[in-house]
Amino acid sequence: MAGSATPTVGVLALQGDFREHIAVLRQLGADAIPVKRVEELERVAGLVIPGGESSVMDKLSRMFGLAEPLKAAITSGMPVYGTCAGLIMLADTVLDGIVGQQSLGGFDLAVRRNAFGSQLDSFETDLEVAALGDPPMHAVFIRAPVVETVGARATALASLADGRVVAVEQDNLLGTSFHPEMTGDTRFHQYFLAKVKAA
Ligand code: GLN
Repeated sequence: MAGSATPTVGVLALQGDFREHIAVLRQLGADAIPVKRVEELERVAGLVIPGGESSVMDKLSRMFGLAEPLKAAITSGMPVYGTCAGLIMLADTVLDGIVGQQSLGGFDLAVRRNAFGSQLDSFETDLEVAALGDPPMHAVFIRAPVVETVGARATALASLADGRVVAVEQDNLLGTSFHPEMTGDTRFHQYFLAKVKAA
């Protein structure tokens, strides 16, 4: 619950690497639960949308009646952290989506899916993230999106050496193109939990 010492946080568990996020959040002392149904969404004070495949997550969220409650939660100010496919789900505009692909939206961004092409399916690099301080964050990108346009309401938190934006924030929303749940660096999850406690 919002305001309590250990608020319950959810991880959208329709598809993707939700188990890894739950493990990181629990390691940080959070009461983390998988969210597959509206009743579970109603119990959480914050939500992580994991990596996976955004077109599948989109279809499943609409099929299971979660898309509209998720949009309402985002609009109401619930802290939501999207990684990779989760960031695509949060973006107002999705570029290179499959036919008919929708997002939940809320984040004033245009995000391009699979932005690194097939020659470079995945890669790792170190990123300076001023909001997290030193040291730089080791970041793993897997068929990752990039933020192509950062809208007026959003802020870039980290960019690649070539300037492409890969971490963003907007009020209650946080997003990364990469996968901090895979590297043992828990600073983005801590940043998210601080948002949940402050909300
Ligand atoms: N390429 C995937 C998509 O479009 C995202 C990949 C990931 O989440 N690791 O949803």
